[in-house]
Amino acid sequence: MAVREVVHYGDPILRKACKPVKDFKKLSSLIDDMFDTMYEESGVGLAANQIGVDLNLFIIDISGIEEETESVHIFINGEIMESSGESWFEEGCLSIPDVRLEVKRPEFIQFKYQDENGTEHIEEMRGLLARAIQHEMDHLKGVFIVDRVTKTVKMTVENDLKMIAQGAVTRAKTRKAFVL
Ligand code: ZN
Repeated sequence: MAVREVVHYGDPILRKACKPVKDFKKLSSLIDDMFDTMYEESGVGLAANQIGVDLNLFIIDISGIEEETESVHIFINGEIMESSGESWFEEGCLSIPDVRLEVKRPEFIQFKYQDENGTEHIEEMRGLLARAIQHEMDHLKGVFIVDRVTKTVKMTVENDLKMIAQGAVTRAKTRKAFVL
């Protein structure tokens, strides 16, 4: 178990669509590291590519914000089948430190995914969990919260984005390959 470095906006791995998970046997140490990293950084969700791993996998724990029956979620090879309604909420992102933006998203989703054993599930989700899933699904497709707002709103954080991206590119050059 280990805390890994969180990859920031500007790093090319966060602009690629992630590969599907095919081998479910070797995921447990990656998932442990993802939880360690997410809790260390006080995040409520983390996608694998945010720690530099090109796989369609993310985790969520919103139990600190909203009471849930199940606090720890692991979603693999997810697909949003349907969505409806709309809501606004201020989102942050571990890959864009200190930037917060109001993002409009569908309120309800029907979500298909596999768990860590490879078993397929289809569930209806709403509220904060649905929002967090959509945020992480965006990551796995190379999309950020700054792509979900108007150009005018994006302009307000343009300087922050430039600073973060400069640091991210330097870090990407010196990063060692992660071994799964
Ligand atoms: Zn994020």
